[in-house]
Amino acid sequence: MADAADFANDHAEYFLQLSLQRHARLPDRPSAQYCEDCDEPIPLARQQLVAGCETCVDCQDLRERRR
Ligand SMILES: [Zn+2]
Repeated sequence: MADAADFANDHAEYFLQLSLQRHARLPDRPSAQYCEDCDEPIPLARQQLVAGCETCVDCQDLRERRR
């Protein structure tokens, strides 16, 4: 199942990026309270974890797949 492998890779990379961002101490950029793509509220935990996040987890995942 190539799809399952891709899914696992995407998530491994996603968590790697998260941990890099936490350690990099990015400049404080306000996170969006609502997803830019689907207008769903972004959970506060995600806003705090991902500095300057613009989308919910689902849309972020979609954006990374489209690249
Ligand atoms: Zn969204």
